[in-house]
Amino acid sequence: MKITRSASDVCLLCQLQASTKQRSHIVPKFLTKKIFIGGGFQIGSHTKHAARKVQDSAKEDFILCPGCEERFSILETLVANKFYNRFRDPASKNNFPITHYGLYLQGQIDTMELRSMTSGLMRLFVYSIFWRASISTCEIYKEFKLELKIEEMLRQDLDTYLGYKMQEMLTLADTYSAHIRLPYNLLTTLTITPDSGNLINSLQVDGKYLLCANNLAMILYTEQPLPYGGGYNANSRFAEVGLLPVDKWKEFISSLLHFLAHERYKARGLEGLSEL
Ligand SMILES: [Zn+2]
Repeated sequence: MKITRSASDVCLLCQLQASTKQRSHIVPKFLTKKIFIGGGFQIGSHTKHAARKVQDSAKEDFILCPGCEERFSILETLVANKFYNRFRDPASKNNFPITHYGLYLQGQIDTMELRSMTSGLMRLFVYSIFWRASISTCEIYKEFKLELKIEEMLRQDLDTYLGYKMQEMLTLADTYSAHIRLPYNLLTTLTITPDSGNLINSLQVDGKYLLCANNLAMILYTEQPLPYGGGYNANSRFAEVGLLPVDKWKEFISSLLHFLAHERYKARGLEGLSEL
């Protein structure tokens, strides 16, 4: 059970300073801002409410101190500038080569390498979102909880390797690239259409945890044997991202929605299904 917090509590990341920061985003704003312009919605697997139209993604008070909030902010700026705002731009193609064709899901997904950044930086970014969702008490993430030992491992890594200034962040993230941790997938689609994203959710099934924010899905693997090799970001030099054709991306999102509807059906009864 997650507990509501106050400003006098200690920061959940550094565990040193007071958690005075308010309105911390759980999922970085740059990933979600376009969702809400068109009246997007967010939905979680265990939320009591139906998919709701909202103006902004989940925010939380009193989880971080200002210093740790700043560390996340620097990390997010770097990832937005080096990856998310660039990879669809044809002028940046050389920084995002396709290195494997048809890697997983019956050979339908190509894999792109992110040569514009170290694998450590991307790993810290992905872990930071899983960690924040796990400690969040917001309705959408209320039931999303990593195993405690996993949550603590991510916290220690984030606290150790996130710098307070941009250059420090880059240097530390570079060091972190050499550390092998839990594998993860990043999935996205090259073609953005108005109805290809529009979803923030969280799932946890058999040692796999999934978070989805607009056109980026992240899956974290925690159960042995851990997947290893291309596309799973186990020990690759550069971060790898699976690219789904837009029709497959829509199928993927649609199957998530069906799964979520089924979970709600189990939790609430038949009306859970009719709301979708
Ligand atoms: Zn802190």
